[in-house]
Amino acid sequence: MFDFIIIGGGIIGLLTAKELQQAGASVAVVEKNSLGQQATWAAGGILSPMRPWHYCDAVNAISSISQSVYQQLSNTLFTETGIDPQWVLSGMLVLNGDDMSPAIDWCEQHNDSHEILSTEQLAIQFAHLRTIGEPTLLRPQVATIQPHKLLAALTHYLTNKGVTFFDVEASHLLNTATAVSAVQLDNNTVKAGQYIICAGAWSSQLMPDGIEQPKISPVKGQMICFPPTDIPNLCMIMEGNRYIIPRQDGRIVVGSTRENTGFDASTTQAAFDELRDFAQQLYPALEGIEPDAHWAGLRPSSPDSIPYICRVSPFKNLSLNAGHYRNGIVTAPASAQLMVDILLDRPPQLDTTAYQLIR
Ligand SMILES: Cc1cc2nc3c(=O)[nH]c(=O)nc-3n(C[C@H](O)[C@H](O)[C@H](O)COP(=O)(O)OP(=O)(O)OC[C@H]3O[C@@H](n4cnc5c(N)ncnc54)[C@H](O)[C@@H]3O)c2cc1C
Repeated sequence: MFDFIIIGGGIIGLLTAKELQQAGASVAVVEKNSLGQQATWAAGGILSPMRPWHYCDAVNAISSISQSVYQQLSNTLFTETGIDPQWVLSGMLVLNGDDMSPAIDWCEQHNDSHEILSTEQLAIQFAHLRTIGEPTLLRPQVATIQPHKLLAALTHYLTNKGVTFFDVEASHLLNTATAVSAVQLDNNTVKAGQYIICAGAWSSQLMPDGIEQPKISPVKGQMICFPPTDIPNLCMIMEGNRYIIPRQDGRIVVGSTRENTGFDASTTQAAFDELRDFAQQLYPALEGIEPDAHWAGLRPSSPDSIPYICRVSPFKNLSLNAGHYRNGIVTAPASAQLMVDILLDRPPQLDTTAYQLIR
């Protein structure tokens, strides 16, 4: 019998496991695919809500706490495992005339470091970017992480620390009216004192019947990646819902679509073409270079983009940490911490009200 069983081994489940293990608990993670291969693997790794001025305080507050600890988390994982999650202070250029005024207002109100670059400054600083005919916002303190490396490091770390992994689907929870008694796996059950659903877009499927259900639905996002280039001084760029993320190895990730296609995570030629064209018109030097990777993932979307991080009433030992939509990488460390604060009755760093199931 474990102290805690976590269902779902994406970034949210794995960081929740880390937080609990550090508090001295025995922890098991049940994952039906390979660890972290769903939304987390698909992510770009931008460590900020894409356009925070479009999000509510509850999302920005939990992001902000995470942003302040990510570099340290990356360093710790690197030191402990030898795998570098590649936290990089890439900065973010925001191209979009309509967005400029709310973006600047938000940065000023929230003390978010920013500069307005004139068209001349842009041309000098980012010489390979297409000509931009208007002043542009630069957020120099926005960082990125490499989700695949982060996952590899986290998995290695948790294995070394004695976290148990069940490589199998949790079909359902066994429960009475007020408590969960076990998780049903293929042909056996596992038991714990407490159960935490961190199953991303699939979380609602695991909730017991007859209670208020979380409204989490899958929203597909497709991404492409260009092979390593020698274009110098690349910056992360955001334009509307599209973005470009330079990687440390010279590769360039381009995202992403937003599609309501249920649990279908297939890729389409139309999305590939659109993302490639977007990148090539921003960086003319990419013309003639074909992307060599294309993938899709299912974001766990809640109606207001605010994750559910809460106990699930009336069960005394069931909790939920899911529904992080487009911000699950950036919000993961603080989400895990908040979940564990709630579970261990520690004073939470954030007001928990906004993250309740019923709100
Ligand atoms: C294209 C794309 C780009 C993104 N870019 C960013 C970004 O730049 N920055 C950012 O902050 N966020 C980004 N996101 C969002 C982020 O990826 C997600 O919010 C985050 O990964 C959610 O993590 P999770 O652990 O909740 O879900 P997941 O990573 O999907 O993990 C859930 C896990 O639960 C497992 N599972 C489900 N049901 C069961 C079951 N019954 N039994 C056992 N296991 C089960 C699944 O197999 C899965 O591994 C992006 C998402 C996409 C799709």
